[in-house]
Amino acid sequence: MGQAPVPPHATVPRLRKAAAGCRACDLWKRGTQTVFGEGVARADVMLVGEQPGNDEDLAGRPFVGPAGKLLDDALERAGIDRGAAYVTNVVKHFKWEPRGKRRIHSKPNAAEIKACQPWLLAEIAAVKPKVLVCLGATAAQALLGKSFRVSVDRGKFVPSPLAPHVLATVHPSSILRAQDDDTRHREMDLLVRDLAQVAGRLGAP
Ligand code: SF4
Repeated sequence: MGQAPVPPHATVPRLRKAAAGCRACDLWKRGTQTVFGEGVARADVMLVGEQPGNDEDLAGRPFVGPAGKLLDDALERAGIDRGAAYVTNVVKHFKWEPRGKRRIHSKPNAAEIKACQPWLLAEIAAVKPKVLVCLGATAAQALLGKSFRVSVDRGKFVPSPLAPHVLATVHPSSILRAQDDDTRHREMDLLVRDLAQVAGRLGAP
């Protein structure tokens, strides 16, 4: 344990290399590997989730599992090219609990989020996105403050020193957990609506 070994003023590839050996919290023991952010070096839009899931942990890449596919669909419907974005997470190791043979997502705690935050701040500093999108409460509260409520303030641009335009919406995994198809379709439409706001700012000067 100790501080995240973040090299100063580093590019994303250098940050990724350094993060591979991070042991600033205990999650490195449980995850297969560090799952660093990826995407265009100077992407206009950065999307930040909570933490890698099972598929991401195995692949070593963010948003490649079911939630990532749903995000791809939502971005496409909103007119945002995922290939032109940068995607990452607040916490870079998969936190899980065993349930039978499965590894079930376990929410990162405040100490783990704090330990990992230097990586996220370094990614933001390196990429300098025009629009920063927090996906879900963990990302929103880590970047916008503990009192931020996604249920109340989703889809609204909020002032922040982190980027010219900052907005929070739900995490795509919350849509996967919807109880029925009607709810899932409705929630997906709302996510697309929020991302369409992002698309609007990307086109702005
Ligand atoms: S979760 Fe973050 S702080 Fe903890 S070991 Fe992994 S990279 Fe380091």
